[in-house]
Amino acid sequence: MYKIKINGIVQGVGFRPFIYKLAIEQNLKGFVLNSTSGVKIEAVGDKSSLDKFIKRIKKELPAAADIKEFKVDELPDKLYDNFKIKRSAISDGSTLISPDLAVCEKCQQEFNDPKDQRFKYAFINCTNCGPRYSIIEHTPYDRPVTSMKEFEMCDYCKKEYSDPLNRRFHAQPVACPDCGPHLKFLDKDLSLISGDPIAHTIKAIKEGKIVGIKGIGGFHIACDATNFEAVKHLRKRKNRPDKPFAVMACEDKIHEIVKVTKNQKALLKSPKAPILILPRNDSIDLYKTDNSSGDSPIAPNVAPQNPNLGVFLPYAPHHFQIVNSKLPFVIMTSGNNQNEPIATEPEILQDLCDYFLEHNRAILNRSDDSIILPTQKHNILIRRSRGFVPSPCNLPFKTKSTLGCGAELKLTFSLSNKTKLFLSPYIGNTGSKETMDFYQETFTKYKKWFKIEPELIACDLQPDFMSTKFAESLNLPLVKVQHHHAHVSAIMAEHQIDEKVIGVAYDGTGLGTDNTIWGGEIFIGDHGKFDRIFHLNYMPLPGGDAAIKHPIRIAYAYLKKSGLSTEYLKGISKFEKRIIDKQIQNNFNIFQTSSMGRLFDCVSAMLGLFPTITFEAQSAMALEYLCENEQVLDCEPYSYDITNEIIDIQPCIKEITSDVQRGVESKTISKKFHKTIIDLTVNSVEKARKRSGLKKVVLSGGVMQNRILLNGLIKKLSRNNFTVYAPENLSPNDSSISVGQVMIANRKIEQKRD
Ligand SMILES: [Zn+2]
Ligand SMILES: [Zn+2]
Repeated sequence: MYKIKINGIVQGVGFRPFIYKLAIEQNLKGFVLNSTSGVKIEAVGDKSSLDKFIKRIKKELPAAADIKEFKVDELPDKLYDNFKIKRSAISDGSTLISPDLAVCEKCQQEFNDPKDQRFKYAFINCTNCGPRYSIIEHTPYDRPVTSMKEFEMCDYCKKEYSDPLNRRFHAQPVACPDCGPHLKFLDKDLSLISGDPIAHTIKAIKEGKIVGIKGIGGFHIACDATNFEAVKHLRKRKNRPDKPFAVMACEDKIHEIVKVTKNQKALLKSPKAPILILPRNDSIDLYKTDNSSGDSPIAPNVAPQNPNLGVFLPYAPHHFQIVNSKLPFVIMTSGNNQNEPIATEPEILQDLCDYFLEHNRAILNRSDDSIILPTQKHNILIRRSRGFVPSPCNLPFKTKSTLGCGAELKLTFSLSNKTKLFLSPYIGNTGSKETMDFYQETFTKYKKWFKIEPELIACDLQPDFMSTKFAESLNLPLVKVQHHHAHVSAIMAEHQIDEKVIGVAYDGTGLGTDNTIWGGEIFIGDHGKFDRIFHLNYMPLPGGDAAIKHPIRIAYAYLKKSGLSTEYLKGISKFEKRIIDKQIQNNFNIFQTSSMGRLFDCVSAMLGLFPTITFEAQSAMALEYLCENEQVLDCEPYSYDITNEIIDIQPCIKEITSDVQRGVESKTISKKFHKTIIDLTVNSVEKARKRSGLKKVVLSGGVMQNRILLNGLIKKLSRNNFTVYAPENLSPNDSSISVGQVMIANRKIEQKRD
């Protein structure tokens, strides 16, 4: 007899019926059982059948399953009459919860079959697809502990649910039009409008209205992506002047708007169904602001002045009815008010929407859409949320039960136990009250589901973050972690690295250990300790955070500090200049920063791109887009100087000033600037290798979302015989800070003890 224990994503993904089917086919007796510590199997039969059974489990695994642990023990035979699927057992130990899965192809076929019981039924699902994380209350995953408990199965569904050979066997959310949840269409005041909710939705969107659509992890706010006026309206209501919107596209038409490779298409169609940021397929004029859309069906204000577009495919059954060849491009942006997390109730969105497509299956756990940024060599998961949470990450060493509280922008938390780390979904972009409520609510659930009671807390050095205040309120051993050390440590953890490396952290801002604002740092270190061996020279940031929204003020202050002319700067008033002059003179409200993000802002403003921005990294992105598809590595860099630990970028700023004044094309300046940053980084990393003998380089920080920079660094460092570790499954931005905090806090505690 074989006793088998399997752990990983093995619950809610059709794993038990799969095992049952294999066991029957191999003529085995015994049982399969879901327990809180994974799937247990006892199988009796002849040796060759048993071995074939094991082989087939690994080979024929259901699409959404992922085995992390597989243990087989050979024991004396027990007597069984047949092979059975036993009810879930309660025991200690942790189990994993499956992420929500996009509707599978078989269910799509039934959905489109007029003869099928679930024809056009918005809640069709099976053991391979459908909601999981979003509907669960407790583990182990079973219908009575999901939001499907409200719906009693009809005989038709019950029969499928109970038949071990049916593809809906023990599919907990199974339902049909006779017994399951339903869509309804509501007006702005939430009064029911009778008739076909889908037909109403399509009609409203086509008429240029804005519709709140309840989906899997929360509400989307939808409007026709080809309708300039509708998009303009949406921007006004959301108070979102420029930030790009994601477009849900019909699969057959997606080629009309973006360039998509075969692999990328497969990723879009995968159970995770992420948003992919892809190059647009049209020849848009990046800096044209009128409402003519050129040769693109997409309205120019969907992603203004942006050569890329965030696109995804329908992933919930009702998406397929709304987004199709007759309405192929629909903006589906997260349904939230400014600075608030994604909503699950229409009440929250009444000021934003004209109508609502609602349903009565409760969303118990929220998650936004995940976002992937493809680069030349790999994909970067820049937002890890729906389709990924709450699957754990594996850590390179054993940790205590630890909570990493995160930073402030792109807030997440991490809860770890031993080598497993559970990263929260994307919570929100500020520490507003609503965001922190969602944070605490999710934290409470994670503790319960994964049976982790933290004994160690980690947070950022920045005392003003709500996440720091939350960490302090827990009254447990607390380690405060430097922001950029956490950035490097997170990407090390992703690559299972637990040794000394050269770490590059290029970021917006984060508090340094010397009370200045860091962000252009090169470290030598490991999870426990780091030496800051190079950094950009300190430049003045007038007014701190206020300057970040006005890159032109950064440019003005940087030029002043370097003793250069500020005459040519566009988009700054005499009044602003006078105030900054005074601040510099009196050294009042001036912060010193080594931030790489701010340097990009400065150069962008010097070129007159965005004197003022309306969303994070807008100006840095504009600078990057100038040299998209250009050969950067061959061009001549600007000057810079490395003396002791200081990388002085003032020579570069001086040469850019003279280039701008001579009327050199902005594209050329941007290319030369990117080349300069690549060169000065490779140069510093070379010096670090000479000093330390280290060959592994870890790249991290929000600026690494710049693909020109990231691709250039990977290429040049690899050529120079470094092993380069770039962000892939964890984001380079602040959403991974909580992971690094967990790692560092554990090492620091060990060091204290020794
Ligand atoms: Zn399915
Ligand atoms: Zn039914």
